[in-house]
Amino acid sequence: MIFKCQNCGGNVVYSPDKAAMYCPHCEGIESQQKMEGNSEEVCVNCGATLQLDEFTSASKCEYCGNYIIFDKKVEGIYKPNLILPFKVGKEKAKEILKKEFKKKAFTPASFLSEATLDKMEGSYVPFWLYDYQADFNFSGEGTKVRRWRSGNKEYTETSYYHVERELDIDFDKIPVDASNAMDDSVMDLMEPYDYKVLEDFQEKYMSGFLGEVFNEPSGKLEPRAKEKAKRDADALLNETLSGYDSMRTHHRNLHLNKNGLYYALFPVWVYTYNYRNEKYPFYINGQTGKVIGKTPMSMQKLAGYAATVFGFTFLMATFIKMIMEVV
Ligand SMILES: [Zn+2]
Ligand SMILES: [Zn+2]
Repeated sequence: MIFKCQNCGGNVVYSPDKAAMYCPHCEGIESQQKMEGNSEEVCVNCGATLQLDEFTSASKCEYCGNYIIFDKKVEGIYKPNLILPFKVGKEKAKEILKKEFKKKAFTPASFLSEATLDKMEGSYVPFWLYDYQADFNFSGEGTKVRRWRSGNKEYTETSYYHVERELDIDFDKIPVDASNAMDDSVMDLMEPYDYKVLEDFQEKYMSGFLGEVFNEPSGKLEPRAKEKAKRDADALLNETLSGYDSMRTHHRNLHLNKNGLYYALFPVWVYTYNYRNEKYPFYINGQTGKVIGKTPMSMQKLAGYAATVFGFTFLMATFIKMIMEVV
């Protein structure tokens, strides 16, 4: 399908700046009419043959420049439940990249040239979002040690505590990217996304962008979601166990009950810079403007890779019940 302008016949796209459908040719707002077309090999607008891979859900025709959404890739099992519409527009994304790298003296001049930057495209990356209710039970023996001196004698007092914790945690929409082309670690670093503005899926938000359907089913990618849940649960438990000088575990059991699953599309600006036969991909979170990538001048030092995302972003409600500590 394609979104055509009722006034001038141009290709209407979703404008993040205007938060509306916009015709760049006549500047019309919300002037779109949906034109459906089922073929996946031919442009609905000009009839040109399109080069697509099996996961492409939205693309740009190289000949007429129109943005096409493939009907069959947004319906049935491929219909997303949720979408985070782009909030950062192309001009803003370019500015963010310029600002990020302007200071770096050894960046090749062409890196930030208007011509190369203009090739940047926004893309909707497929994600699975998993909800879990988690029961986390822990028991162990903690010690607290007190030392003091009296005259020329040194005293040590060790107190032993029986420690029990029972955590009931709700994980809300743990994201796992479902695109093989996107590096998992890069996508994890794109977090956090602001879920408050998640919307029910609408095709119009895809107009003006590229897109992909999920490459892998949710079951296959679930171990990554569970791993994230486990990491956050561990961190949360450890926080409740601070204050002891030692802790010996007797029992530690985390049980995750999946109680929600969503297929969602998240916005990412992708900029690939070619320099001396090397590709330098940059990714900008299309919602928050966060940049992940490496500059040509510092091959080993991956900007942003060192950053770790604090684990509690996706804990919506946390209820911690601490059972008595008995001396
Ligand atoms: Zn128009
Ligand atoms: Zn075309």
